[in-house]
Amino acid sequence: MPRSPLLAEFVGASATVAAAVAALPAVAFYIGWERALADALPVWLAGAARHETVGGALLLFASGVCATLAFEWIARRGYFRADETENAVADDLELSSRQFDMQLAGALEAFSAHAERTGQYADALRQGRVRLEAANNAERVRAVVCLLVAENDKMAQANATARERLNATTNELKALRAKLNRAKAESERDGLTNAFSRRHFDVVIADEVARARSRSSELSLVMADIDHFKAINDTHGHPVGDEFLKQFAAVLARNARTGDCVARYGGEEFAIVMPATTLEAAASVAERIRLYLTRTRWRRGRVGGEMGTFTASFGVAALAPGEDAAALIERADARLYASKRAGRNRVSK
Ligand code: GH3
Ligand code: MG
Ligand code: MG
Repeated sequence: MPRSPLLAEFVGASATVAAAVAALPAVAFYIGWERALADALPVWLAGAARHETVGGALLLFASGVCATLAFEWIARRGYFRADETENAVADDLELSSRQFDMQLAGALEAFSAHAERTGQYADALRQGRVRLEAANNAERVRAVVCLLVAENDKMAQANATARERLNATTNELKALRAKLNRAKAESERDGLTNAFSRRHFDVVIADEVARARSRSSELSLVMADIDHFKAINDTHGHPVGDEFLKQFAAVLARNARTGDCVARYGGEEFAIVMPATTLEAAASVAERIRLYLTRTRWRRGRVGGEMGTFTASFGVAALAPGEDAAALIERADARLYASKRAGRNRVSK
C-alpha cells in the first residue's frame, strides 16, 4: 500500500474535521444540549440534532461516512499497525520479481537484436560468395574479400558486445535469484523463534494433507501451547518471555524429525506437522517434549537467577479418511484444549 500519499492525508484530515462537525448535533441531542444548540445554531442544524429534518438524517449519514474515512486515514498513517516484517518481505519479493522480469525482457530484446544482426551477416556472406564466383579479375576478388573482412570485423564486435551483455545479465539474474531465495526463506520463518511461520504452516499442512490422501499414507499433527505463559511475561518481563519462546521452539525442533515442520501457530502456540507418522508415534514425540520440560529448570542467562520449571500442553490428531486440513487442525486444537481443561502439562490424543 502506498504510504500516506498527499491526497489521502488531505482527505483523511478533512474527513476527521467533517466527522467531528457532523457528529456535533447528534452528540448534543444525546447529552441534552439541543436547547442550547437551538439558540446558538441555525434552525436547520438544531432540527438535525432532534433527527427532525432531512438535513439531520443527511448529517448523521455523513458523519458515519466521514468517520469511516477518518478510520481509514488513521489506519493508513499506521496507528493500527499491520505486520511490518511480512509486508516488507512481500514488497521485497514483488520488487525482486519485477526486476527479474525486466532483466529477462531486456535480455530477450538484446538477443533478438543480435539474432537479426547474425542474419544480416549471413546475407552479406551469401552475397560475397555470389560476387566472388562472378569476379573475373584479382582487383574484384580483393574488393569482395575486403568487404567480407569488414563484415566479419563487425560481426566479431557484435559478438563481443553480446557476450558482455550476456555476462552482465547472468550476474544480475544470479543476484536477483539469491535475493528472491532470501526473501522467500524469510517469509517462511517466524522472526522471533525461527520456527516456520504461520503462513508457511498453512501451505505445508494443505500440501501434506493432499499428499497423504493421494498416497493413503499417515499424517499427524501436534499442537503445543505453553502453560501459563502470561505469568512468565508478568513475572520476568516480556524480553524473558520472548527468550523462552525461542527456547521452546528450539526444544520442539530438536525433538522433531527431518521432514517434520515445526511452526509458530500464533502467540505461544506451536504446531508440528508430521508426515508418514501414526497417532501413537506423534503422541510419543509430544510426550518426550512434555517430559523434557518437566525435568528442565530454567534460569535467566548463564549466571542469572533460577526461574523454575515451565510446562506445556499438547493435542495430537492423525488425519482421518476424507478429512481436510482445517478439520485436522480443529481436532488437534480441540485435544490441546482438552489437555488445558484437564489441568495442563499433558498430552491428549
Ligand atoms: P494457558 O495455560 O491457558 O495457555 O495460559 P497462557 O497464559 O499461556 O495463555 P494466555 O492466552 O492467557 O496468554 C498468552 C500470552 O502470550 C499473552 C501474550 O501477551 C503472550 N504473548 C503472545 N505472543 C508473545 C510474544 O511474541 N512474546 C511474548 N513475550 N509474549 C507473547
Ligand atoms: Mg498458553
Ligand atoms: Mg495460547
